[in-house]
Amino acid sequence: MNKHWDPADELKSAYPEMVEWRRYLHRHPELSFQEERTSAWIADKLRSFGCKVTERVGGYGVAADIEGAESGPCIALRADIDALPIQDLKSCEYASTVPGVMHACGHDGHTSTLLTIARLYAANRQEWRGSRRLIFQPAEELCPGGAAAMIRDGVLDGVDAIYGVHLWTPLPYGTVASRGGALMAAPDEFTITVSGRGGHGGMPHQTVDAVVTGASLVGALQTIVSRNVDPIHPAVVTVGSFQAGTTGNVIAEKAVLNGTVRTFNRDVQKLIRERMDSIIAHTAAMFGASIELDYREGYPTVVNDEGEAARFDEVAAQLFGPEGVQRSELIMAGEDFSYYLQQKKGCFMFVGAGNEACGAIHAHHHPRFDIDERSMLISARLLIGMAEHRAAL
Ligand SMILES: [Zn+2]
Ligand SMILES: [Zn+2]
Repeated sequence: MNKHWDPADELKSAYPEMVEWRRYLHRHPELSFQEERTSAWIADKLRSFGCKVTERVGGYGVAADIEGAESGPCIALRADIDALPIQDLKSCEYASTVPGVMHACGHDGHTSTLLTIARLYAANRQEWRGSRRLIFQPAEELCPGGAAAMIRDGVLDGVDAIYGVHLWTPLPYGTVASRGGALMAAPDEFTITVSGRGGHGGMPHQTVDAVVTGASLVGALQTIVSRNVDPIHPAVVTVGSFQAGTTGNVIAEKAVLNGTVRTFNRDVQKLIRERMDSIIAHTAAMFGASIELDYREGYPTVVNDEGEAARFDEVAAQLFGPEGVQRSELIMAGEDFSYYLQQKKGCFMFVGAGNEACGAIHAHHHPRFDIDERSMLISARLLIGMAEHRAAL
């Protein structure tokens, strides 16, 4: 591999500011589709670095364009900027100041990292060729997400390749991981409404019991993955909430079940949907209830280009040593980075952010979620490394 621009030392001196920005964002989180102040703050910073800034791309998205010294490919790097409806239970000085809203997925770290990258690219134009488009995307956490909207507004126009990372606490700090092909699941959601006939708890023969019908349905739905899906294909059908009834001596008229389906393969996704329809129709007939299914398809599967995944293996091993690079497992969470990868070659990568020593031991979306902040430096080197390797002659 040729030598590419690797601003490792400049990143080290940028680190205190990177932490300061991340903690500012952590204190002031905004929910998906509501990132108005966050995006204005990002745009101000980008302008101060001398980037060409486009605001309100696909909602509160911000895009920054930076031109290098000579012509060459346009490489896009993406960070998501939204937070989650979770009460922050940490007691540290940078805990969220917004009740019920928290950066519990690390998007504050992604944003701070990409801002730092923007500053370094803008300050070192003579070191690299082509152009870089830095994409600050809103609403990753909530379907239909911000990626599709930014693409509709043209954020991928002229882009030759795209890279993105997710800080990842299940991976230890110092490790990075990715893989070619399918990486993250397609997460669909559903709501099932069971309507029966309520009545006296002592006179069930006069009722159609929505609890019994719903309970039977929950059991039957579990047979889709265990009995219908080919076991070599990973899939999940989860009923996460079941709400019915008001008290012990009244038979419930209605039950509402909410859940999620996770798949990596379009045919498996279709099969699950068909089996749900059939099980629901037959359960309704069996109990004399009526049952409605509202099925909402989420993001598509995240699929990395094989050649770009090979680039990741090479770049990451050179930057962090072979012992710091893993082939990622399949991840059952979803990501709307999938939409970019449907349009352009690229790679989505995980950067280890877990570390017991600094309390970064909680899963993503946990109310005490935190990261080893040094993982932002690894993210920045990896993203720049991928871009520079791709842009090299
Ligand atoms: Zn998340
Ligand atoms: Zn996330």
